[in-house]
Amino acid sequence: MSKWTLIFDVDRCNGCCNCVLATMDEYVGNTHTGYSEAMPRHGSPWMNIRAVERGAYPVVDVAYAPQTCLHCDNAPCMQKFPDAISRRGDGIVMIDPVRAKGIRGIVDACPVGAIHWNEEKQVPQNWNLDAHLLDAGWKEPRAAQACPTGALRVLKLGDEALSVIKRNESLEQTPQALALGSRLYFKGALRLTSALIGGSAAITVDGRQEPLVDTPVELCSGDAVLARSVTDELGDFRFNLAADPGEEISLVLHHEGRRYQRKVGKTGGLFRVGVMHVNSLAGELQGLP
Ligand code: SF4
Ligand code: SF4
Repeated sequence: MSKWTLIFDVDRCNGCCNCVLATMDEYVGNTHTGYSEAMPRHGSPWMNIRAVERGAYPVVDVAYAPQTCLHCDNAPCMQKFPDAISRRGDGIVMIDPVRAKGIRGIVDACPVGAIHWNEEKQVPQNWNLDAHLLDAGWKEPRAAQACPTGALRVLKLGDEALSVIKRNESLEQTPQALALGSRLYFKGALRLTSALIGGSAAITVDGRQEPLVDTPVELCSGDAVLARSVTDELGDFRFNLAADPGEEISLVLHHEGRRYQRKVGKTGGLFRVGVMHVNSLAGELQGLP
C-alpha cells in the first residue's frame, strides 16, 4: 500500500519557514476532532526548520533541515505506547489526543524529539501531516503547499515508486533514520552531514591582491589525495569532508608548475583555512619544485 513520504531537497530550501507558518496556521487555536488538539501558539512548532552552519571565514555555508515527526515504519513511540499511538495504513503515525491525554512519558519515547508536550491540554503531540486534510481529499499537507521552492514534497508513494525516486534523485537517509524506518528522505544531505573545508587562493600582482581563478586544489590526508577541485571566479574553493580521515589534513594548490602545500588547522570543531596566498604569506606556504 502507498504511504505518505516526505522528500526534502537541501539545495532548494532557503529557510523562509513558510512551511512552519502554514502548519501553525492550521493548528494554533484549531482542534481537529478525532485527529489533534490545538497546537500551542509558542514553543512547540510540530514542523520546524533548523539551520546547519558549516565552514569558517572566508567560506561558509548555511543549509536547512526539517525537524518533525519522521512517521517511522519501526516507530519506538508506537512500540512503547501501543494503546495511544498507531500507524495508519497510509503510513501516518497518529497520537490519539484522547488516549494519550495525561501521558507525559510519550514525549520521551521519540528518539528525535518530534513529540511535544502541550501543557494547556495535557497531551503529547506530533505533526500528523495534516491527516484531517488528506482524508478530506487534499493532495498534500499545507506545509508542502506553502513551500515556494519545491524543497519540501509530501507524496503518497508505493514501494516501487519510492525506489524509482530514490534512485533518480539520489535520496539519502542517516543511519539513525534508516534504523527507524523514517519516511523522510533527503536530497543533497551532504550539506547537513559533512564538514566544509573551504578557503581562498590569492596572488599579489603589481601590489594588488588578485584571486587565483581556475586553479587546481587538492585535499590530502598524508600522501593520499582525498578530493580535487578548482577555484571559482573569486578564488574560493570548497570540499565536503564526509568522514574524518583521522590523519592530518592538508591542501595543495597548483600554480604555474609549483605545488603550495598547507596544513589545515582544526579549532572549535571547525577546519580553518583562510586565504592561501602564494607569494606574501611567507612561512605558511611551501613551494615545492
Ligand atoms: S519520529 Fe518520533 S514520534 Fe515520529 S514516528 Fe518516529 S519515533 Fe514516533
Ligand atoms: S517553505 Fe520550503 S523553502 Fe521555506 S523553509 Fe520550508 S522547506 Fe524550506
